[in-house]
Amino acid sequence: MYIGGKSAVEIADEFGTPVYVTDEQRVRENYRRIYGAFSRFMDTRVHYACKANTNLAILSILREEGAGIDAVSIGEVMSCLKAGFTPDRIMYTGVNVSDAELKAVSELGVMINLDSACEMERLARIAPCSDVSFRITPGVGSGHSAKVTTGNKGAKFGIPLDQVIDTYARAKDLGFNIKGIHAHIGSGGQVVEPFMDMMEVLIELVNELKGLGIDLEFIDMGGGIGVPYRPQEEEMDVEELASNLTSMIEEETDVKTIMLEPGRYIVCDSTVLLTRVNDLKDTGVKRYVGVDAGFNTLVRPTMYDSYHHVALANRMGKACTSKYDVVGPICESGDYLAHDRVLPDPQVGDLVAVYDAGAYGFSMSSRYNSRPLCAEVLVNDGKAELIREAETMEDVWRHQIVPERLR
Ligand SMILES: *Cc1c(COP(=O)(O)O)cnc(C)c1O
Repeated sequence: MYIGGKSAVEIADEFGTPVYVTDEQRVRENYRRIYGAFSRFMDTRVHYACKANTNLAILSILREEGAGIDAVSIGEVMSCLKAGFTPDRIMYTGVNVSDAELKAVSELGVMINLDSACEMERLARIAPCSDVSFRITPGVGSGHSAKVTTGNKGAKFGIPLDQVIDTYARAKDLGFNIKGIHAHIGSGGQVVEPFMDMMEVLIELVNELKGLGIDLEFIDMGGGIGVPYRPQEEEMDVEELASNLTSMIEEETDVKTIMLEPGRYIVCDSTVLLTRVNDLKDTGVKRYVGVDAGFNTLVRPTMYDSYHHVALANRMGKACTSKYDVVGPICESGDYLAHDRVLPDPQVGDLVAVYDAGAYGFSMSSRYNSRPLCAEVLVNDGKAELIREAETMEDVWRHQIVPERLR
C-alpha cells in the first residue's frame, strides 16, 4: 500500500503507530475540484471548515491554495492566523460563545456570523458597527448522523425562521454593516436536494430583506457535502450541486457571491490512519483483531456508528479468510474501528489502514486511558514528513497540579 507515493509499511516503521498519514496532493485536488465546480458559475469563496482538521501544515496547504476559513472558536481563528491566513479570509461562526470570545475575535479583525439575536445584542455593546452576517435555521436538516444534523427546525443553531427578518431589521438599527446570510444543514449529507431546499429558504429571505432596504453581498450555503466512506458508495455530484445552487441565486436574487464551507469534503479521503495489530482473539462467536488505535485515536465509529473502510496495508490484494472486528486498546466495549470485515488472515505485527480518516479524525482524538495523542505525517512526492510529534507522558501530565500536602 502506498500513500502519496510512499510505502505505508515504511511510514509506520519510521514514525511509529498509530499515525495519521495525509497525502498533500489529495488535499489540493479536493480544494481545486470544489472551488472549480462553483467558480465556473459565479464569484465563489470556499471557506475550509477547519474543525475537520486543524493541523497547521494542512491549514498552510489550504492557505497556499487560496482558501478562506470557517472557524467555530477563537482557538481555530488563532490557529489559522498562525498558519498565515489574514483575518479578512476568516469567518467565525460560534454557538453559545462568551462576550470575551466575541471581543477577542472581533479585535483580531475577523467577521462574525451571528447565531442568535441575543449574541447580536451582546456584540452591539462589544463591537458596534462591525461587519456581520447571520446564521439562520433553514428548517432543513441533513447529515450522516442525528448528532451532526444542524439545520432542522428547533435545532440549537441559528436564528429561527420566523425571527430572521426582525433580527436583520434590528441589526440595521444597531448600525451593523450587514454582509450576508448563512445556513448549515448538517454534516455528511449525500444528496443534492436538501441543499436546494435550504437555498430556496435563503433566497426567499434575501428578497424579503431587499424589500426592507437590506442588500446582501453573499449567500453562504454552509458545509456538509458528504463523501463516500463505503467502497460501493457514490460521490455526491458537486458539479450538479454547484450548477443548481448558483443558477438559483443568479436567477432569483441580486447577490453576486456564493460562499461554502466544506470541511469533510476537502480533507476526509486525504488521510489514512495506520494502526498496528497487537493481539488476536477467537471467542468462538467473534474473531477480534486488536490494534493500537481506539476511540481515543478515531472516535467516529464509537461516536456516530460511522463506517470506515479498513485493509491490511502489508497484505494488499491477498485473499480474505474470515470476518473480524477491528478493536482498540480502550477499556470499553464501545471501542471499535470496524465490525464484521473480511480480512486476509491478520497476524500480530500487521498494519491496519483505516481509510478516510482526514476529517474529524485527529481533531476529535483524546488522551482517554492516559494514551498520549498520536503523530501526524504529511506525504508529498514520495517523501514523508512529520507534521505533529506523538505526545509523551510528559504531555499528559503537563498542567496537572498535585497540591503540596498530597505529595
Ligand atoms: C462543521 C461545519 C461545517 C463543515 O461541515 P462538513 O460536513 O465538514 O463539510 C461548515 N460550517 C459550519 C458552520 C460548521 O459548523
